[in-house]
Amino acid sequence: MGRLQDKVAVVTGASSGIGMATVELFVAEGARVVAADINDAAGAALQARYQGFVHFQHCDVTQEADIAATMAAAADRFDGLDIVFNNAGAGGSINTIEDMTGEAWDFTMALLLRSVALGIRYATPLMQKRGGGAIVNTASIAGLEAGYGPIAYSVAKAGVIQLTTLAAAQLARHDIRVNAICPGFIQTGIFTASDLIPGPLKEQIKAEMRAAAPAAQPLKRAGEPIDIAEACLYLASDASRFVTGTKLVVDGGMTVGPRQAWDPEVRAERARMMEARRAAYEAGVKG
Ligand code: NDP
Repeated sequence: MGRLQDKVAVVTGASSGIGMATVELFVAEGARVVAADINDAAGAALQARYQGFVHFQHCDVTQEADIAATMAAAADRFDGLDIVFNNAGAGGSINTIEDMTGEAWDFTMALLLRSVALGIRYATPLMQKRGGGAIVNTASIAGLEAGYGPIAYSVAKAGVIQLTTLAAAQLARHDIRVNAICPGFIQTGIFTASDLIPGPLKEQIKAEMRAAAPAAQPLKRAGEPIDIAEACLYLASDASRFVTGTKLVVDGGMTVGPRQAWDPEVRAERARMMEARRAAYEAGVKG
């Protein structure tokens, strides 16, 4: 018996990275999944891999009609909806506040924040018919602290965290739980998604990022999509039945504090500097 036996889920951003790992885990745990994405080729391949268990639905999450159709597909194909993972996303605008445009801002908010609000909105009546449900939203550590993403992306992800809290408060009366995950640095295609980066260079950049990841946070390995999928499984399953309105940080400790809090090399270097200053001071006094 799987932890999601006979549940019906929608996963957006399902053709790659965190979304795809989540579809794979959900199916392994007994769920049937509507996998939604703009990448039709990868989505069709996913459906072919899990015939009868995965239905691919083309869905551009910046389009309200696509989101509504995706939730409806769960009811049409699998007779209902129990779980939604609002996860699709990309980096959005890389503009700073000084060169931001209204268009770039609006696009990023539509992609990362409005999409989640509408995902919750269109999932709710279907979950009410089932007597409840679980919604999980992908935020980011960029929504918690400065320095982990472009400004529009970070503001949108902060919005996802607050949206999660408020939606949880409003939907608890229907027994619908709403939670967010804040991933840290996870090895996916999101960092090399730009069409401006040639294919071979993408591979080179990916390899460099993978090599650098273990030194970037206290837990010394790269974050993988399955790390987030496991967190999503917890929040989607009955194991978290008393959990709503929370944000689960899954970041290898990246946000525990400044580097000297967890890197002994940095602390040792500081101690060496202090010792050198003390020795120089004493030498000056004695001289
Ligand atoms: P991936 O690029 O691997 O997967 C994202 C998927 O979403 C891709 O298949 C992408 O398609 C799709 N997508 C992009 N735009 C849309 C759209 N408008 N409608 C529907 N689907 C779309 O990235 P991740 O798995 O890393 O990202 C998943 C989520 O995790 C995102 O919300 C991201 O912000 C978040 N996140 C990721 C972190 C990381 O370190 N990887 C850290 C924190 C948060 P295509 O490839 O064609 O663009």
